Amino acid sequence: MKSSSSLEQGRSALVTTLFLAAATAAALYGVSSMRGGASLGLVRLEREAPTASFSPLPAGLGSSPSALKVTVEDSGSGLGDVAVSLTQNGKTFALSERAYAAGGVARDELELKVDPKAIGLQEGSAQLRVVARDHSMWRNSATIDREYPVDFKSPRVEPMSAQQNGTVGGVELVVFRYRGRPMVEGGVESSAGALYRSYPLSAFDSSRAFPDDLYFSLFPIPFDFSPAKDTLRLSVRDDFGNGSTAPFNYRIATKSFPDVDMGMSDEFFRRKVPELREKLKAADPAVAVTGNDVRDFKGVNEGLRKANEITIQQALRESPVSSRLWKGPFVRPLAAAPKASFAEGRRYVFEGSEISRSRHMGVDLADVAQAKVVSSNKGQVVFADDLGIYGGLVIVDHGSGVSSLYGHLSSIDVKKGDAVEQGQALGRTGTTGLAGGDHLHFEIRVQGVPVNPLAWLDARWIEEHIEGKIGSYAAQQPTVQG
Ligand SMILES: [Zn+2]
Repeated sequence: MKSSSSLEQGRSALVTTLFLAAATAAALYGVSSMRGGASLGLVRLEREAPTASFSPLPAGLGSSPSALKVTVEDSGSGLGDVAVSLTQNGKTFALSERAYAAGGVARDELELKVDPKAIGLQEGSAQLRVVARDHSMWRNSATIDREYPVDFKSPRVEPMSAQQNGTVGGVELVVFRYRGRPMVEGGVESSAGALYRSYPLSAFDSSRAFPDDLYFSLFPIPFDFSPAKDTLRLSVRDDFGNGSTAPFNYRIATKSFPDVDMGMSDEFFRRKVPELREKLKAADPAVAVTGNDVRDFKGVNEGLRKANEITIQQALRESPVSSRLWKGPFVRPLAAAPKASFAEGRRYVFEGSEISRSRHMGVDLADVAQAKVVSSNKGQVVFADDLGIYGGLVIVDHGSGVSSLYGHLSSIDVKKGDAVEQGQALGRTGTTGLAGGDHLHFEIRVQGVPVNPLAWLDARWIEEHIEGKIGSYAAQQPTVQG
């Protein structure tokens, strides 16, 4: 490939001066047209075959449509034609047939959708073939043949836990059995479209033996979950794209969250808005910054808050820790009683009028100014930087979908990628971001969804809702005879 492309680069110069000599160079390459459209009538005689590759190629075909991506390249005379087909029991199904104009296309990506049932494939094996040819007179070609399995069998998913009793803003755990081809995706699916992923029980505790077909999902119940309208079910998909769903028993109690008026002052606007306005501009250049404190405060409280949430979700998704690093209960990151409560609705009032609203998705803890903040549990730092309304922010991933956030820090002692122990210092409280006074904003999230952190500080809740449930599936350890 390398020698061919360096020859290509020298092509125009060579052709103009030496085209009559092309016949002798023909074993290497040839040219039939030049820039400007004038054909020299020379045949392409290069012998370099095109290349073809799949990216990615699913393990096999299942009952639902699969996407295949084929990349074809020819850096010599260019792509001539490409055909992709599936053959089974002597019948061939063309998936794609494409021809290219002479000398034009060096690379193409074919995105193919295969609906195995619609084209009449049967379970067993099919032959997947790609043939790519170039424009050389030799019609150099590349052929890829793959024996490709077809399996329409759905995986089995069965709930093991008898009943889940949860509350909005809380977390529940369901254990289920999965049998079938390797699972690529599975957990609790909500009617709102979220899939709260699952992990094998061994990821919860590798020191105990669990049946290897058992999985658990810690699923959040968002504060605005409506038991009357929203539903949950188990949903799994295997590596061939075969899926199954199953209901499980749960009861979700509703709860109302308080509304709180936040009195805004000129002093607060003067102190906070200039700095936050700059962050708003940086986060979203499309947002119109007006220069008016009240309107820009609204932009910060709503627009910057939304932009910050996207950053948090990205940090949590980047390289999530599957195995559980945390061990319950969590500890208070700051020795103080919570002030503002989880999911309270905030109405921001200035000179008697409401100017903005938000929802407070954590608890606030305040002690002395610049108090030491510790990690609530063992984990890995996935974010340690300044972030909009959060100010100095540390996010710790505790594994198995659980994470904690520490906001408004005046100083940060850890960096992204650090492993932290429970009780290890993360930084000090402050007034950074959208904070009126020195305090810590503390959140716990499950699968990215904020939940009431106080439950996680409660040893009994952890035991009853999580540890005890999972422990009941551990294999009986032989009793040591003394
Ligand atoms: Zn807060």
